[in-house]
Amino acid sequence: MGRCEWVGLCPLHEETQPSFYVNTHKDVFYCHGCGQGGDLIRFIQLSRRMSFRQALACLGRDQQEADASALLRQAAHFYQQQLDRCPEAKQYLSRRGVHDQVLIGELHIGYAAGGSLRRHLTAQGYAFDLLRSAGLINIQGADALYQRVVFPLPYRDSIVNLYGRSIGATFAHRFLPGFKGGLYAWEKVQHAEEIILVEGLFDYAVLRQAGFSNVTCSLGTHLNSEQFRQLCEARRTIYLCFDTDANRSGQLAAKQLAERLGAHHIRACRVLLPAGHDPNSFFVSGGDAHQFRSLLEAAQP
Ligand SMILES: [Zn+2]
Repeated sequence: MGRCEWVGLCPLHEETQPSFYVNTHKDVFYCHGCGQGGDLIRFIQLSRRMSFRQALACLGRDQQEADASALLRQAAHFYQQQLDRCPEAKQYLSRRGVHDQVLIGELHIGYAAGGSLRRHLTAQGYAFDLLRSAGLINIQGADALYQRVVFPLPYRDSIVNLYGRSIGATFAHRFLPGFKGGLYAWEKVQHAEEIILVEGLFDYAVLRQAGFSNVTCSLGTHLNSEQFRQLCEARRTIYLCFDTDANRSGQLAAKQLAERLGAHHIRACRVLLPAGHDPNSFFVSGGDAHQFRSLLEAAQP
């Protein structure tokens, strides 16, 4: 058996000499300084000033979130390993203009062939119920993501969801149920004075590849409250670069968002791509960084 007794500074009272003991075998703590001791629930009660029932609920929630995040991390890792084995997935990425291997690795892009995730995860000891509640398998017990390029969605230090883009035509987009997180890879741009906001992950990938580091993605034109809050965290300029589609829905969404941001004293400029284009198709059809920069300069509030 490994080491199970630990000692450190007590988080419950101020001290300079360690007198706080934790036994991870028995899951108990005791402080020789302040005399407090007990199990994990007792510790949460004391450290977060909660009742027994509150501490119990809190512990359950923390544990569920940690389990779900570990599970999604495992799933994403498995999909990432599959990418190199599937020429059709790599062909799809290259058709969408994504070819930088370093970026593909950095974003942990993977491929869900379908039919093998459940076996892989249950062999690792994950319970069927957990796979079901995470939405990784459907009600029939089959893998939910099937023939899809997969982007894990990180939020703070966890993976909170997976985005799957079908390499066939039908049902193009898919997320797992639940929270999609904030703006994509927010920690990379949160201190930038100018931010380019796009609606899709393939838009994000080609812009990163073209050398634009100050890009983030809202996974659609409708921002959740966390994403909107992030944009309003600091004074800066946001370049809204949504699709220029025939039904104008992207441009309409950009206009509304610019107005909402303006009301929060955030400067927003709308980038007008050539008709029928999104940032991804702009680059795939031969547009380059220089041309895109001209579009940014021409962007109107
Ligand atoms: Zn103490």
